[in-house]
This record gives sequence, C-alpha cells and structure tokens, in this order.
Amino acid sequence: MGTWATLTLVTADSASVAGLAYESLMVLHHVDSLMSNWTDASEVARINREAAARQITIHPEVADVLGLAVLVGKQSRGAFDVTIEPLVRLWGFLGGTPRVPSQDEIDAALELVGPDMLDFDADDHTVRFSREGVRIDFGGIAKGYAVDRVAELLRRAGVENALVDLSGNMVAIGNAATHDGWAIGIRDPFGKYPLLARIILNDESVATSGDYERFVGAGGKRYGHILDPRTGWSARGLASVTVVTERAASADAWATALFVLGPSRARLIAKDREDLAVVFVEKLESGDVIVWVEEQLRARFGLSNDLGKAVKVRFF
Ligand code: AMP
Ligand code: MG
Repeated sequence: MGTWATLTLVTADSASVAGLAYESLMVLHHVDSLMSNWTDASEVARINREAAARQITIHPEVADVLGLAVLVGKQSRGAFDVTIEPLVRLWGFLGGTPRVPSQDEIDAALELVGPDMLDFDADDHTVRFSREGVRIDFGGIAKGYAVDRVAELLRRAGVENALVDLSGNMVAIGNAATHDGWAIGIRDPFGKYPLLARIILNDESVATSGDYERFVGAGGKRYGHILDPRTGWSARGLASVTVVTERAASADAWATALFVLGPSRARLIAKDREDLAVVFVEKLESGDVIVWVEEQLRARFGLSNDLGKAVKVRFF
C-alpha cells in the first residue's frame, strides 16, 4: 500500500514476541496482496480487470471490506465512494504524476463513479460492474482493515498491551509502558509543529485523513488526494479529520467520508453517531486554525504545549 507500519508490543521479554511481530508483518503483506491499488497483482486489481465483463466471485476478506465500504457509502450519503478509482487515477494520485485535470476529463470520469456502478452480493461474495471502465479503490479503507487484522492476531495470541500503527491508522490494545491507555498524536496538517494535539485511546481504533499527505499544487491552490464523488474535485474545507471508534476499518472509512463532507455536515454526523468520536482541524480564511473536538473526547484530549496562542480549540 506504499506506506510504513510500526508495531509496539509491551513485554518484559522482547525476544519472546519477536515471532509475533514477524507474523504481524505477514498479516500486513497478506492484506496488501489482496487490497493494494499500487500493483496489478492484488485481488482488487483482478476484480478491476474482470468484473466489467462478467459477474465474478471475490475473496471473502475483500467481500467483507467491500461490504463495509458500501455501508459507509450509504451512511455518508455517497461521500465515501469505493468506485472513486477512475477519478483518483485521472488526478494522478494512483501511479502517476498528480495534476489538475480539465472539467471535461472530470465529467467523463464521473460517468464511471457512483454506487449504481456496482452490483455486489455480500452473501454470495459476487460482484459485477455495470460498465467498462468502472473500478474500485480501497485506498480509503484497507489500511484500517489491515490493522484490525493485526490486532486480532495479537489478541488471539494473548497480547495485552500493544499499539498497531499503519500510517495513522491505529489500534490500541491495553496500556502503554508508561501510562494508562495509549497517548497518540494528531499531526499538524500545516507542518508547522511536530504535533498539534494528543488523545488517549482505551482499547479503541483511530484514523486520520488529511490533504497534507498527497496533493498537487496549482495556481496557488492545493488539491488533495481525497476527492468529492459528487463534483470530481478535491474535497475542501477541512485540513484533517481524526475518528476514534471500535473498528479501525470503520475509523478509516469515516475519516475519509467526513473529510469529504466538510466542517458543518461532518460535525452534524459526528454528533449524531454515538459510535464515532471526532476531532477536526479547520483553517479559516483569516488564517486562524480551529481544532474542533467532540465533547465526549474532552477529558482525554490535550493540545500540545505552547500551542494555546496559535490554535483555537472548540468543543462541540
Ligand atoms: P484516506 O487516507 O484513508 O483518507 O484515503 C484516501 C484515499 O482514498 C485516496 O488516496 C484514494 O485512493 C481514496 N479516496 C479518495 N477519495 C475518496 C472518497 N471520496 N471515497 C473513498 N475513497 C476515496
Ligand atoms: Mg480512510
């Protein structure tokens, strides 16, 4: 998936868990081999080659993730869209040099994007695309799923304290060596400070979506890799979204979805859904940075030292 992972295991005897660390890496390789969109060899790449021509049976794990992707797609009213691939490719965010496409190109790609493009049977694990050129992209959900699988392996092996981190998609198990729960950092989307804030996780998952990781700059504007399926353009309005919830795959998909929905709608949905606890970073026209923190995280949220003047925190 073109990214890095860090696994922290708290133990009195590090040699005894080295094998488990290795097995965890194998789990990541396994999920990568199924869901990566950076290779022609993955199961997702095979689906993209074959499912326009005929109905095909897909790997059960891929069917699971596709099911969750479609569900979050519905619940977010289309903000999360697993059929976004033709647009992501057009913008050059998938194996290309990122560039701003023309409106005509965007209109053409939009014809291939949308929930109607997919005929998916979650029970039979079959899928068919409604036309040639339709493709799926798990870039917004597969990393979360991968860390869920690693956490499952660790829990089954009896691990009580661990942190699994795949580029910001994390599962926290038990406690860190030095404190209760796990303190995780929220990066500064503007790159000025190492960390903006931290939250304590208690046997939960977290994911962050931002436009600072992959983007293209043009005409003084920044266009990020998270695209709005309704317009075909980069989602605007938020600098980053951090979602805390039980399953990392859901955290991953919802972080992407809320990023697309923008500050006001994302706040409404976050308030409405008890299962999601959310932090947004918003930069106003004035240049002010506002960190929106959902009330339920108040007790375990902390701004980094000395940032009180540079950043405003609003609980909602
Ligand atoms: P994330 O870092 O989890 O927010 O995922 C971003 C990646 O998800 C992008 O690089 C695309 O591969 C894919 N993506 C972009 N926009 C969307 C969207 N609206 N719905 C689902 N996936 C998306
Ligand atoms: Mg995501």
